Amino acid sequence: MTLILALDFGGTKLAAATVNLGSREWLRYERRLSPVNADANTDLEIMRSLVHSLLQDTKPAAIGVSFGGPVDATTGCVRLSHHVAGWENLPLKQLLEQEFGVQAYVDNDANIAALGEHRFGAGQGYDSLFYITISTGVGGGWILNNQPWRGSVGMAGEIGHIVVDPNGPVCLCGKRGCVERLASGPYMAQNARELLTRERKIGTILRDLVGDNLDLITGQLVSQAAASGDDLAQEVLQKSAWALGVGIGNVANLVNPQLFILGGSVTKAGNRWWEVLSQVARETALPEVDLKIVPAALGDDAPLWGAVALTQVRR
Ligand SMILES: [Zn+2]
Repeated sequence: MTLILALDFGGTKLAAATVNLGSREWLRYERRLSPVNADANTDLEIMRSLVHSLLQDTKPAAIGVSFGGPVDATTGCVRLSHHVAGWENLPLKQLLEQEFGVQAYVDNDANIAALGEHRFGAGQGYDSLFYITISTGVGGGWILNNQPWRGSVGMAGEIGHIVVDPNGPVCLCGKRGCVERLASGPYMAQNARELLTRERKIGTILRDLVGDNLDLITGQLVSQAAASGDDLAQEVLQKSAWALGVGIGNVANLVNPQLFILGGSVTKAGNRWWEVLSQVARETALPEVDLKIVPAALGDDAPLWGAVALTQVRR
């Protein structure tokens, strides 16, 4: 039996699991929320205690790690975390290898999710796919010729910052009208808030959902209000689907992967969101480009399964 240890540093949560290679069931599994004022040290300390309780007297053959932020996958060095302080240039692979005496592999969560879906989820049997997560942010990861493709400095797959509306609102990256600026959960909430502030007579269902306290609006509530027939929420959601559809259509024209897999909380926004994005992607892609867009299959454990797959990638 080959024991694999999989770790997920998720920004707000930490998870660790062990599995015998070839099995699709965890041997042991531990999950903990990251404390409110977490930094890299507290996260590492919590992860260490999870791992020791998982492993006890056993030793893994390899460690795979999903990290929620940019990583140099070659050196296994974290560049930074967007959510937790103190991760700047932290040599995570090296730390783990010193502590556990086995090979460790580290990659960012979007690349890991692409790999997990390819080996264990919706992408099984395809040799080229693009995985997109639409959640707090919008990110992506490539599988090309059955292998991860990270680009020259690990920046491949940043569909979130493809510009689809050059005159649109300003994104956190400084450009206007990025896919993420229109499609992510927090930006959908912000767009709804701005429209509600400007126009008092529309969006009454959404307004009622938060008792007129617009600060409470989330991407999920926008979806909920849209499903209940709220005009303003439907407009915001439509824009999200439109932006993503334009992005996907352009990516299809450029690389023509066999499959697009969509995961993350915003993909639960309902059938209408899926219909609009599929239609817009179809209209954006050339007629000769085949387009297949499906939901992700692995759910919350995607980072851990991807981390298992990462230990098995041919190098
Ligand atoms: Zn941007």
